[in-house]
This record gives sequence, C-alpha cells and structure tokens, in this order.
Amino acid sequence: MGTIFTQIVEGEIPARIVYEDETTVAFLDANPLAPGHTLVIPKAEYERLNDVPDDVATDLYATIHRMVPAVEEAVDADASTVAFNNGEEAGQEVPHVHCHIVPRFEGDGGGPIHGVAGEAPDLADDELDDIAADIESRI
Ligand code: AMP
Repeated sequence: MGTIFTQIVEGEIPARIVYEDETTVAFLDANPLAPGHTLVIPKAEYERLNDVPDDVATDLYATIHRMVPAVEEAVDADASTVAFNNGEEAGQEVPHVHCHIVPRFEGDGGGPIHGVAGEAPDLADDELDDIAADIESRI
C-alpha cells in the first residue's frame, strides 16, 4: 500500500482536490493551519526532495507557482508561507514529498520561517567559507 497521499492520487481516500495534471496534484490540508492551507505533491511517490527527478521537480514547481496566487486570492490572504518539511528530523510526517502553501494574514500570530531550526549557530568566516565551498563542489 502506498502513502496516504498516493491513496489520494489513486482516489482510494477522499480529498478536496483543487488542481490536478499528469504529474502533480494539489489538495486542501486535512488539518489546516489557516483557511486555504494547500498541499502540492508529485503524483509519484518520492520520500524527499532529494529523491525527485529533475523533470518532476520542474513540474512540481510549475504547479506551486500556479497555486500560490490562486490560494492567496481565494482566502484573501496578505501573504503565504511556502515550505517543505524535507525529512523526518525537519518535521516531515508523511513520507511523500509535499509543499505546504499556508496563507498568512496580518496579525495572525504566526512567525517567519527563520524560527524553524532551533538556536542559530555562531559560525566564523572560515567555517562559512568552507561550507560554501563544500556545497558548491557538490553541484
Ligand atoms: P508534514 O508534517 O510536512 O509531513 O505534513 C503532513 C501534512 O499532511 C499535515 O499538515 C497533515 O494535516 C496533512 N494530511 C495528512 N493526511 C491528510 C489527508 N488524508 N488529506 C489531506 N491532508 C492530510
């Protein structure tokens, strides 16, 4: 049996699907953090962003790009937080890549994405240089 999101893709469990194409689906989150909270997924099951092939990543971002303004406008939001929990340690509960589009409203009491990673590290310039070089070498 696939993930709960695969079951949605297969029509085995209900969802409020708001967009669908050959490779991606968007549907309302069942436990919304705000009205209009929407999830965008690839139809095929990949656990993490790291596993998504380039062509599917392109399609996924194209759907996110279309959905963000539609979601914001539908609920008259002032802004939105658009994010992936990429891996269990980052808070991912469903092991099927999904992008959260969370509408945001002035004074909604929420915070920016800067708050998600715990205490900020104090990194020296040479450490930052090493990290930047390491990342660059892997691309
Ligand atoms: P994450 O913690 O990033 O894995 O988020 C998983 C999200 O999936 C949560 O926001 C859940 O509310 C949502 N979710 C779980 N099951 C369903 C479902 N059957 N239909 C819609 N959303 C779901």
